[in-house]
Amino acid sequence: MSAVEPPRMPLFAALPRRARCGHATLEFAVLGSSSSGNASVLRVTTRESRRQILLDAGLSPRATFGAMRALGFTPEDTAEVLFTHFDHDHAREGWARVASTTGLRLRCAASHRPAALARGYPSAWIETFDPRAGGFDLGPIRVEPCVNPHDEAGTVSFRLETDAGSVGFATDVGRVSDALVDLLRGVDLLAIESNYDRGMQLESARPKFLKDRIMGGRGHLSNEECIEAVRAIAFPDEPAQVVLIHLSRDCNHPDVVRGLWSRSLPALAPRVAFAHHALPTPIFRLRGGALEGANP
Ligand SMILES: [Zn+2]
Repeated sequence: MSAVEPPRMPLFAALPRRARCGHATLEFAVLGSSSSGNASVLRVTTRESRRQILLDAGLSPRATFGAMRALGFTPEDTAEVLFTHFDHDHAREGWARVASTTGLRLRCAASHRPAALARGYPSAWIETFDPRAGGFDLGPIRVEPCVNPHDEAGTVSFRLETDAGSVGFATDVGRVSDALVDLLRGVDLLAIESNYDRGMQLESARPKFLKDRIMGGRGHLSNEECIEAVRAIAFPDEPAQVVLIHLSRDCNHPDVVRGLWSRSLPALAPRVAFAHHALPTPIFRLRGGALEGANP
């Protein structure tokens, strides 16, 4: 899409937002994100209930719990892990033991169940959903999934809709489909991968097969592809916050990404935060669909 071309109109009306209520709170933080490990936490608190989930479990349980405690989350309150897919950087073996001993549910697409079992995860604690059958509820969280091309098994992206606001979560997306744009359009907080700088990737010492895998439409999103996706998702309603995840440590740099955003999407650039490979982001809080601490 060129800079002068208007964004594509939605094929469908944006998914219905839940009525916002001022006493519900959504808290989201990325605990760590890179090709060496990915995990995020999301907690929703309403008058009636509270639900805390992890999005992917690609950090060790010890690192995950440490980062959660540092932010003020109670790891033991985690009800389940919602998996995008089962590559090693999204699903560490150590979570098999945590599930066996605590009953933590491991929720994934039905097509990913063999990969979850291959990771050693206990069958009794794996719960599956069919991403093509529509959404489902996890307590106060409405989950709407969408399948993306990524290697053989694909990944699942999520729209998490709550009374406090909505989060879009998309990582390891080989190519951005219209369905994914429509799913994420209108979210209040968008966490999306910005994996690599194309020039740095091409010049890297990585073997050709790996470069082809990453850039071939079944791997990851480049910085430019991420920006074009956000440009489409943000029309007409811009997210209050964008969190860029899964930056390559070898073939990307936040300074490169910042420069690109200020040239390509300057209106949104001040609302972009970066996940770090080993340090958690601050907690982003939504209430009534608004981001706490943001300028109105
Ligand atoms: Zn990954």
